[in-house]
Amino acid sequence: MSVPSPAKDGIRRLDPHTINRIAAGEVVERPASAIKELIENALDANARHIEIEVEDGGKRLIRVVDDGTGITAEQLPLAVERHATSKLPGNDLFDIRTMGFRGEALAAIAGVSRFTLTSRAEGADAAWRIEVDAGRVGKVRPAALQRGTRAEARDLFYATPARLKFLRGERSESMEIAETVRNLACANPAVGMVLRNGGREVLRFAPEKGDAAEARRARIGQVIGADFLKDSMEVSRATPVGRISGLVGKPTHNRSRGNAMRVFVNGRPVRDTLVLGAVRGAYRGQVPSGRHPVVALWIDVPPDRLDANVHPAKTEVRFRDAAEIRANTVRCLRDAIAEAGHRAASTGGMTAVSSFRGVGPAIGMPAFPPPADARPVIFDTPPGATPMAKPDHATRTYPLGAACAQLHRMFIVAETPEGIVLVDQHAAHERIVFEQMKAQLAEDGVARSQLLIPDVVSLPETDTERLLARREELEELGLVIEPMQSGQLCVREVPTLLGEVNSARLLQDLAADLAEGDEATSLRSRLEAVCSRMACHGSVRGGATLSQAEMNALLRKMEATPHSGQCNHGRPTYVEMKLEDLERLFERR
Ligand code: ADP
Ligand code: MG
Repeated sequence: MSVPSPAKDGIRRLDPHTINRIAAGEVVERPASAIKELIENALDANARHIEIEVEDGGKRLIRVVDDGTGITAEQLPLAVERHATSKLPGNDLFDIRTMGFRGEALAAIAGVSRFTLTSRAEGADAAWRIEVDAGRVGKVRPAALQRGTRAEARDLFYATPARLKFLRGERSESMEIAETVRNLACANPAVGMVLRNGGREVLRFAPEKGDAAEARRARIGQVIGADFLKDSMEVSRATPVGRISGLVGKPTHNRSRGNAMRVFVNGRPVRDTLVLGAVRGAYRGQVPSGRHPVVALWIDVPPDRLDANVHPAKTEVRFRDAAEIRANTVRCLRDAIAEAGHRAASTGGMTAVSSFRGVGPAIGMPAFPPPADARPVIFDTPPGATPMAKPDHATRTYPLGAACAQLHRMFIVAETPEGIVLVDQHAAHERIVFEQMKAQLAEDGVARSQLLIPDVVSLPETDTERLLARREELEELGLVIEPMQSGQLCVREVPTLLGEVNSARLLQDLAADLAEGDEATSLRSRLEAVCSRMACHGSVRGGATLSQAEMNALLRKMEATPHSGQCNHGRPTYVEMKLEDLERLFERR
């Protein structure tokens, strides 16, 4: 076999077919990316309604029909030609106001499929179409179409079998397509979109009316879910480098998949590592590891502060003010999360109430209403509840109220002027310890106490190694360990905040945490994960009997602690029920 040699054969220009196929590989990686390009073209053409149809995960058929401005007969051949565009008026790549600007998507898609573009330009009395088969452009012929444009790609990648092999199964490609449509639908609430897959309607978004903010909210509700609207905070902040706005989920509203973080930069859905990193940073310690927060975040910067031309697929961007964008995003989200932290609990109360409603008389309760002149019945203390002195008036006015009782040695009941508060004592304590450790860490290191008798712990060798490799960092966090001859570890000092700990279990858990985080996880976030883990160990476990003074002390600490509405795993630490909720529960309202 003869290998071409540059010296012998010389340099030659690739023919346009080959060029288009090379480019196609970058612009259209898979059916979903072709659909993204076609929808974006429709959006650029001011479409109000876009219908998308696919078969076999987009591999057999992709069709995008819009009611936009259309393309004239003369322009049809240009539309499918590479580097031909009607956009980018001043040829300025730093003044991009359209979704497209590279003029290569249609050429790329048409280069690897059987492609038909049919269009009727605004005001024209007829429609025209052009066919392109794997890059071979046919003649412009008359066609039938009322308005707008219909782009149809059949047998995508049939012309490049190597690429075809890399496509995933029908299901997986279909999921990706739906996700692409959802993202573009979020970004364009005023535009109606319908997705059909194999003849079945998968998504339908009616055009949202009202002002931009209202329309956006309504569309997000449709795309992400109505519960997200209730479980999220609206942010809108003008910063020196741009506007940050959107909806950010409460940490308790987390998901197992990272695609629930939607980011739009200058209206373009992107997977931007910088912004996604900032989002993760803002939620660090709030959402359990392995789970992801849910956000729909818009970042709008002046076009000349953004490079959207980083990759042919345009899903990456580069900010000129990257560091400031990052810092402002983190701050904006942190503020929203902190503010919601103290409020997180109140919706939990309503959920609890609604789950109670309609159950009829509770077990052990009289089935008949008491006589009108009945005096209030004083029940005996039920098993598990610790009787308490009547809370004094002054304490009740604290936000979390005055402790009244401990139930099942797990929950604290407190009375406030407006209702009652139920606290998960373990979750609450854990949060407090975590926040205190973080604060100490930020100042002059975590305070530690020496154990009177050092604890000797046996662990598998890999765990011992892992822990010893992190010895210095652990020490900074207040945990002092030393290797022993027999391969065991010796715990000499522990963080003072933890109180009494089970060293063996603590070390086992820490070793598991350290094994989980990969090399890419920053040291800082690992430290916080370790803090969180230790906090969990030092906490007042469910099951500890607390005195009224101890309970009140816990409540006061919660009030003074940031993010105390959620535990380190993102679950609520307390729920609040207003008197009116309770009255509703008993159908008095
Ligand atoms: P780009 O969008 O970067 O300009 P494309 O290859 O995607 O490049 O499209 C080429 C040109 O074809 C566009 O600039 C536009 O003028 C025209 N075009 C493509 N799709 C549509 C559409 N749905 N409606 C109107 N014009 C379109
Ligand atoms: Mg385009």
